[in-house]
This record gives sequence, C-alpha cells and structure tokens, in this order.
Amino acid sequence: MARVLKETESRKLLGRLRDAMASDLAGQARLDLITHLIVDSMGTEVCSIYLFRDEETLELCATEGLKPEAVHQTRMRLGEGLVGRVARKGKIINTADAPSTKGFRYMPETGEEIYSSFLGVPVQRLGDMLGVLVVQSKEARSYSADEIYALEVVAMVLAEMTELGAFVGEGAALSARHQQSMVIRGTTAQEGTASGHVWLHEPRVVVANPIADDPQREINRLTEAVEQLRVGVDKMLEMNQNGDNEQLQVLEAYRMFANSKGWMRRMEQGIGRGLSAEAAVEKEQSAAWARMGQVTDQYLRERLADLDNLSNRLLRILTGQGDDTGAEMPADPILIARNIGPGDLLEYGRQLKGIVLEQGSVGSHAAIVARALAIPLVVHAERITTEALNGDHILVDGDGGLVHLRPDETVAKSFRDKISMQAQAQQRYASIRHKPTVTRDGHRIGLNMNAGLMVDLPSLDGSGAEGVGLFRTELQFLIRNQMPRRTELAQLYARVLDAAGGKRVVFRTLDIGSDKVLPYMKATDEPNPALGWRAIRVGLDKPGVMRMQLQALLRGAHGRPLTIMFPFIAQFEEYKAARDEVEKTVARERRLGHVLPETLEVGAMLETPSMAFAPQKFFDDVGFLSIGGNDLKQFFFAADRENERVRRRYDTLNLSFLGLIERIVERCAISDTPLSFCGEDAGRPVEALCLAAIGIRTLSMRSASIGPVKNLLVRSDLGEVRKIIADVRHRGEMSVRPAVMDWLRQQG
Ligand code: PEP
Ligand code: MG
Repeated sequence: MARVLKETESRKLLGRLRDAMASDLAGQARLDLITHLIVDSMGTEVCSIYLFRDEETLELCATEGLKPEAVHQTRMRLGEGLVGRVARKGKIINTADAPSTKGFRYMPETGEEIYSSFLGVPVQRLGDMLGVLVVQSKEARSYSADEIYALEVVAMVLAEMTELGAFVGEGAALSARHQQSMVIRGTTAQEGTASGHVWLHEPRVVVANPIADDPQREINRLTEAVEQLRVGVDKMLEMNQNGDNEQLQVLEAYRMFANSKGWMRRMEQGIGRGLSAEAAVEKEQSAAWARMGQVTDQYLRERLADLDNLSNRLLRILTGQGDDTGAEMPADPILIARNIGPGDLLEYGRQLKGIVLEQGSVGSHAAIVARALAIPLVVHAERITTEALNGDHILVDGDGGLVHLRPDETVAKSFRDKISMQAQAQQRYASIRHKPTVTRDGHRIGLNMNAGLMVDLPSLDGSGAEGVGLFRTELQFLIRNQMPRRTELAQLYARVLDAAGGKRVVFRTLDIGSDKVLPYMKATDEPNPALGWRAIRVGLDKPGVMRMQLQALLRGAHGRPLTIMFPFIAQFEEYKAARDEVEKTVARERRLGHVLPETLEVGAMLETPSMAFAPQKFFDDVGFLSIGGNDLKQFFFAADRENERVRRRYDTLNLSFLGLIERIVERCAISDTPLSFCGEDAGRPVEALCLAAIGIRTLSMRSASIGPVKNLLVRSDLGEVRKIIADVRHRGEMSVRPAVMDWLRQQG
C-alpha cells in the first residue's frame, strides 16, 4: 500500500536527494540512488527516470522496480507511449489502469505489464523539456493530489540537477545537456554570415541550491524579496505614468502578479515541500512556461510572459545575481536574447558579430537597428535562449535564417569557407570602390547608401557610396524614450553632414506610423496601419513635430547645402502642402536671423502606385523623386511587406511591376526630374541590374550592398539586359528573372 507523502516526508526526501547530489557518486549512480529514494519514500513499487537522448527520443536512464537490463535499452519517440505523451504535452498522466489508457505501449523488456497504476510527471525547466519521472504500482489506484505535488517537486529538483550537470560523467545516463550541436531554424531579418561565441543578453539565473532545510527561513526570504519586488514595480509605474498604453499594461500586470495571493501561496507550498525560495519561484515559472506552450490566446500569452519576466526579477533579488554576472564578453560576441529594444542594441553597437532572437520580428525596431549596423540577424529562433550558454560556439547564417549552435567541425569548416569567400569578394569590391560605376555600354549609375543612425556614417567612405540617398530620420526618434528636442536634432543633423564630408545627404522627414510606432506617442489603434495614419499624413495633420524637424534640419545645415525628402506622398496636394511648410519654415528662420542653407532641394518619395499617374505638373514641380520600392511593391501587389506568408510571393522582376517603374522613368524624363530608387531591391545585384536597364540611373541601398551591385553593373551591358526584358515581354512571360539569370550564367 502506497504511503501518502506528507510535507515533512517530502522534505526528508528532498534532503536525501540533496545528499545524493553532494556525494561524489558518478552520474549514473546518482540517478540509480534517486529512483531508490523515491520508491522508498513514496512506498510505491517502481520509479523510473526517462531523459532525452536527442530531441526526439527518450531513454530509460534509471529504474527501481523495472528490469535493470532495460536501462539504456528502452527508448521511445516523443509522443510514443504514456511516457512519450507526458513529454510531448508537458502534462501529467495519472491513471489507475495504465494498459487501458489511451496511448499505452507495451515494452516487454521492462516487465512493466504487472503494474497497473502509472503517474508520469514532466521533468522540465523554463520551457525546456528534459525528461519524464514515473512511479508505478501493482495496485490499481489513482495518485492523490498530494502525491502528484510531491513528485512534481522532485521532478523540479531533478530538472535543476540535470541543468547543473549532476548526471553527466563516466557511464552516465545521457550526454551532457548543452553540449550537443544543434541547428535552429528561424527567420532572416538581416542577411550576412557570422561566426562567434554566445553572449546572452540576460543570462539565466543559476539556482545552485534547489533544496532547503528550514522552510520558515525560506518563507521569510521569499516574503522580503516579494516586498522588494512590489516596491520596485510601484516605482516603475510611478515613473511611467505618461508612458504608452502597452507599457502601462505590462506594468499593471506586474503589479497584479506581485500582489497575487495565489502566486505567493503556490510558492510557499513549494517551500513547505523542501524547496528553497528560488527553486519555488522557478517551479512556478516553469509552470507558466508550460502554460504558455498551450494557450493560443495572444493576451494570455503576453500575461504569462509578464509573469516570467517578473519571476526573473524576483530570482535576481533572491540570488543577488544582477545583470552583471561577472562573465566576460567574448571577442566575437553573437548576442542571444528573447527580445531586445533598439536602445539596448545600439549600446552593444558594432562589436556584435551577429544577433539571434527567440522572438522579435522582421519589422521590429531592433531589426531596423541591426540593419543599420549591418549585423546579421535571425529572429524566431525557437528555444535559443534555453539552449545556448555563454561562450558556446555559434554560427549565424542570416541568409538562410539558420543558427548552428555548437556546430561540429564539418559544418564549422564549410562556414569558414563561406566566410572566407565573402571576404575575398569584399576585397574585390574594395579594389573598385572609388571607381565610378559605368556599365560596359557606357551608362553612369550613381550608387548611394541608406542610413539612419550616426553609426552608419563611417561606412560612407568604406563602401564607395557617392552619398546618402536616404537618411531615415525616424530611427533617431524610435530609439529614444522621449521626443528629441530641436537643438539636439539640429546638432545631430549637423554631425551627419560633417561625417558626410560634403557628400549629398537626402534627409527624409519622419516616417512614423504603420510598423514604426514611437514609444512615447499615443498609439492609435488602426485596423490596417500600413494603409493608415502614417508618415506625411501624420506630419500634415499634426504639423508641430514636422515644423520642429524642418527647423532642426535648416539649423543643422548651417549654411551648407540641404536636401529634404517627404515620405509617402500619395497625391500632389500632399506634396504642395509639405513644400509650403518648408517655405514657411525658411521664411521664419530668415526672420529670426538664422543662417540658411546654401542650396535647398525638396523632393518626395514615390511609394504609392497613385503617383505614377499623378498630373504631369507634379513631376514638373517636385525637386526630385525617389522610389520607395518596399512600400510601392507592397501596395502594387497588395502584399504586406512584413507578412512572411506573402512577402516573397511577388517578384520585383515581375513585368507588371517593372512596367510601373518604366512608366515612372518616362514621366520623370519628360520633365527632367531626377529619379532614384531606394527600396531594398536596389541592393540586390540582379534587381539593381534590371532597374538600371529600364532607366533608373541612381540607386540607394544598404552600404554592404554597394560592392556586389557595383561589381555586377560594371561588367554588364544594359542594352543586352533591355533586349532580354523585351524578349520576355514579347513571349508573354511573367517574370524576367529566369531569363536574366540564364544570361548571367552564360556570362560566367
Ligand atoms: C521604401 O518604402 O522602399 C523605403 C525605402 O522606405 P521604408 O523602407 O523606410 O518604408
Ligand atoms: Mg517606405
């Protein structure tokens, strides 16, 4: 007859587990001892520990009660049998009649057919499934809530011990966690390849002592820490009263959890069973992770994530492990984080070789900054923060959206080859850096770079760009916590012009809204933000900020030539109104006695198909035009540029889209309006070549693309490409890509 495990006995069991951990037994002997202790304490007949052999396979690693010869022989795939189901779902199975329970699989080598009851609990730590702990008995009975809880506590301690490497060693049950190589598939947010070593943005708090003897002392520690946490949260709330809604919502959720009696009670219950305060916090945190894996409701998931963050704070208070864990950043750091804000990322700056985020998104502010810094970035890399340890070797394949963690030598070697080939190509590009870009048939193409932050400017010279064709001024607004002041901005624009050393810089006025929401501006809830109140629409409706920015630009130029461009102009009137604002601002500055720019060019971005059909007067009046291909394409094909499912579906080299660009080229030619193209496609060599072939004479792209684009252009004959395009059109095909690629291959 099984015994009901009371709190005191449960504590006794944990005490014995701790002794097992402290002993100098080898890994396997420890596991064996643990199964023995559990059988003994719970008065059950079988206790078994199954751990993951690899991502898909569980292995019986120790047992008391089943046939010993089955150890390391019995294996099951994730989801297979009752054990596999516990691991797959992360949920307990408690049954009095195992053989008739759905999913049961008979394993003859274990001799388990004589056992009727089965209780399996997942061994997991913060979303990381490590194995399954099982007790079984002959008597047909369901285990009580008390017994389940006791076993969960043991499973929690087992998880901690696994994490601390307690079962690794000679003849050990499993190869050490965090030593196997693995590939994680994510999504590309910035191309490029990098090899380096892991640097965790928020290193995991290590709980070195999951078991404690003196529950009262642990409860006091917990109470004090929670009190400190509450005070901290209240302070944050006070400081952020004027923050945006989302931030307030998070802080309110923090406050709710910090004051939650249920949360406190569950943690105290864990302590009552023999856990230390920090292990009790982590037990609840793991439970939140497990729930996160099950709920699909976005709101609930966010709240569970809040609880997770709050638990981390509490753990830091309890363990005294601040953000500074004393670890030293490697010389070639690859940053790993669940998510990161643009400000934090900028602080790391160019020293990072790569970035891998568990969450994040292609259009996030962090991605914008990573792009500006030209650091390869992979987002949606599942489990990376639980799998990676500080100092692990890691390869980031930003082109394929892949991450190789602790790669084996063959992968590392092929990666080294790839990087060295890229380096050789870079050298080739460097040799043509300062030569003008003239195609074989004599067309001169201007190549500029896109920028948005001061850190971009050093690449101006190194990349061979002739100027900055697009300076996205909103980035400066996005990375701050409050609206920058006019003097600050004027100084910044002056520094940008200084750094450009006389080369032309096209300052695009604020392009906010849609995916770019300022953290300190009230967010408007729009059904479709990309088609909503954004860019120049905000600028004209609320002209205060635009006027301030125009003043800052005029003052920053301080007598030097200045170029201003308005984003997202969808009809002529908008351009006229924006231009009027510039004129008014100039007049005001003149009245105030400020130095005016030597020359002032004002132009617009062409990002909506409507403008290809604008009155000719628009083309006559506008100082210059730059095609924002990213937006123009998303509106032309009605395919959201941020939506992974559709964004790659429509080819830029589709003849319909090229036809639209040709139309714009022709209309500009009539009025001699300078035209450039500054979307991402400008930086893709084949796309750039086709754009040049249909008459685009200036391209603006990220600085790293200038070399590859120039390298292809100087070796190409645009007349031949034009002919290929005409042939494809004649044949009635959709995209010119296959034909152009064939031709390029023939050219070698
Ligand atoms: C574009 O739309 O192509 C563009 C260059 O602007 P952004 O990517 O900043 O919207
Ligand atoms: Mg745009």
